[in-house]
This record gives sequence, structure tokens and C-alpha cells, in this order.
Amino acid sequence: MAESNDKLPAASLVAEIHENQFGGDPRVFLAPGRVNLIGEHTDYAGGFVMPAAIDFGTFASISARRDGRIEIWSQNFKEGVTYGANEVPQKRTQHWSDYPLGVLWALRKEGVEVPAFSMVLHGNVPLGAGLSSSASVEVASALALLHLADAKMERTAIAKLCQKAENAYVGASCGIMDQFIACQGAEDHALLLDCRSLEFRLAPIPRHVGLVIANTMVKHSIAGGEYGTRRAEVEEGTAILREHRPEIALLRDATPEDLERWGSEMPDNVMRRCRHIITENLRTVAAADALASGNLKRLGDLMAAAHVSYRDDFEASCEEADIMVAAAQSLPGLIGARLTGGGFGGCTVNVVEEEVAARFAEQLREEYQAATGIQAEIYRCHASAGAHAVEKSG
Ligand code: ADP
Ligand code: MG
Repeated sequence: MAESNDKLPAASLVAEIHENQFGGDPRVFLAPGRVNLIGEHTDYAGGFVMPAAIDFGTFASISARRDGRIEIWSQNFKEGVTYGANEVPQKRTQHWSDYPLGVLWALRKEGVEVPAFSMVLHGNVPLGAGLSSSASVEVASALALLHLADAKMERTAIAKLCQKAENAYVGASCGIMDQFIACQGAEDHALLLDCRSLEFRLAPIPRHVGLVIANTMVKHSIAGGEYGTRRAEVEEGTAILREHRPEIALLRDATPEDLERWGSEMPDNVMRRCRHIITENLRTVAAADALASGNLKRLGDLMAAAHVSYRDDFEASCEEADIMVAAAQSLPGLIGARLTGGGFGGCTVNVVEEEVAARFAEQLREEYQAATGIQAEIYRCHASAGAHAVEKSG
């Protein structure tokens, strides 16, 4: 399975695997994984997130078949599935093939006629580590299937379609961020996304800046349940604010002043969950502005404040993540560090001076191991392009 230091395979290798497996003359597409730089639990409040696509990704190669069958091979799993083109399961089978088949299902629901095909998936996004291998598989598959069907679709529509595949077919309740950034990411840029309107703007990440993603290797079992609790708390707080200001449809519409006036009507935990989201929205937009004006110090301060808010107000951090962030803050070359993702473990994201990124990653690993006894996986990456077709010779 994909490891931290696995390189992205060459597109020519993917084409070669495809030709050996199926013959045919494949076209190859690549979609990236992602990391969220700031904006946590703001998506369902209609707010802002700021992810970057990364140079870990998944290829999907595709060629037409004449025998009326569909065959999908995952080089990572060294395993394939095959169905008659019109006998594809209409719901999940709890297998990795749910992801590409979910996209096929969603496309057909949109009326896109996809003929019989062979597909190979091959990538280096570590699975389930929080870098969104699932969205990279979906979006790469979507580009490949759209190409085969000779159909056009806007990037935002592709992102929505892939989200639908994951929600309704795979059965995982994710927001739009992962699929959106996989579609719309740009090299050397983060992307500020308004999760309600889906308007976005790119924010430049200078060339001398690298991203170091540090996997704490823990995911506390409370994560699933607490996610639901947090959503309910946020809804409870929003309802209280809405009694005073009916135009607050989602918490994203509320201001710090609203919370100052009416927060005392909420239980303390509810007030703090709301405070995290309201301030996080402001920080996320400010972080995009900081990048736009080249103010990396400000970006780092906002990331530090975001971590404190996530830890103390939203109470979604954990001891290991706090150790990882504190260790990063003591190392040379750090611009900003925080826990990224849904919380209770997972990865921290570190924005660092590229010049010292290798040493930074090594020291972070050592300090984390000394403090916790856990061997972290570290992924060094750069802000990269969104999904695209690639030359087979590449
Ligand atoms: P994440 O998106 O955070 O990596 P998920 O649990 O959402 O984790 O998605 C991981 C799943 O996506 C894997 O278990 C597998 O089913 C599917 N997947 C990811 N990459 C591949 C691949 N290269 N080939 C086949 N399936 C893949
Ligand atoms: Mg996923």
C-alpha cells in the first residue's frame, strides 16, 4: 500500500500497466489529494475552507472495450473487478471499486452514456490518512469516464457529481471540499472556498514555501460520535442566534458581536463551539488575504490561533496532535502549524521554508517519537494543480 515516501508513478508506467492488463490505447488522467490549510468544521456552517491540492495523486487510465464489459483494476490493491456494462451494482459492495463505480452510477444518473471500458487506478495518496485518496480516485475516474463518453462538464459540476457518488453510493457523508479542490486546485496556490455559494479564489503560495503533513498515526475512537455531537451543538447555537436575528440561516451569517450579545443564552459548550466556527471563518478569509499580500507571518499567526481555537473551544484536538503542533513550533523554518481534518487525531499541516523542509520533517519525527513513542509518517509536498489529462509519455 502507498507509503509516505512512495513517489507518484510515471504516467507512462500507468499506461504500460493498462496496456499489459487490457491492451487498448489508454488515455491517462491525474487527480490530486489535498490538505486543508485552515477552516475546520466550517463547511456545514456554510463557511470558508482553504485547502491546497498536493503532489500526491491518483491516475485513472481508460480505454474503450468491444465486449460490453467494464473492468477496473487497482494497481495499489493488485486486484480488479469486472461487470457487464449494464450489470453494474446499483449500490455499494463495500469494496474499493465503490468509488469509481459510484462515479459511473452518478454520471449515468445525469444521463451521460458511458460505454464499456477498461480502467486502471494507480496512485500514491496514502489511504485513509486524511489526504483524501477517495476524492482523488473519484475525480480521476470522472475525468476518464467523461472523456470516454465524449461528454463535457464544468469543473464545479464534476466536484458535485463526485461528492454525490461518495455520499449516496459509497455512503460516506463528506462535504464538497475534497472533490472541489481536486477539480479546481492550482499549482503554487491554496484555494479559498465559500462552501455555501461555491465561489472561490486562489491565494498564492510562494515557491520557497513547502507543506509538511505529519500523521500522528492516531485516530481516537470518539471521532465518529463526537462529529455528530459537534454538529448538533452548532445547530443548537445557531437556532438561539436565529431567534434574535432571523437572517442567520447558517452560523456563517453570525458575527462575533452576535455571539457577544446572545452567547450567554447558550450552554457554555455550545457557545464555545459557535465561537470556534465564527472566528475560524474570519481567520480563513484573513489567511487567504495574508497569502495574497505575501504576509507569511500573518498566515502563521492565524494557523496558530486556529489550532488553539480547535483545541480549546471546539475541543476536537487530542494530546498527540497538540504534541505534534508544539514540537513544530519549536523548530527552525516553521511558518505555521495546526491540526487539520475532522479532529481527534489524523494529521497536522505545517507550512515551512522549503530550504529546511527535509530537516524540519526529520526533527519533527524525532521529537514526536521521543514524546509519544509513536513513529509518525511524514508527507512532504507542494501545492499542485487540480485534475487534468496527462501525456502517456510523461
Ligand atoms: P481518505 O480519502 O482520507 O484517504 P477514505 O476512507 O475516504 O480515506 O478513502 C480511502 C478509500 O478509497 C480506500 O479504502 C479505497 O477504497 C479507495 N481508494 C483510494 N485510493 C485507491 C486506489 N489507488 N485504488 C483503489 N481504491 C482506492
Ligand atoms: Mg476520503
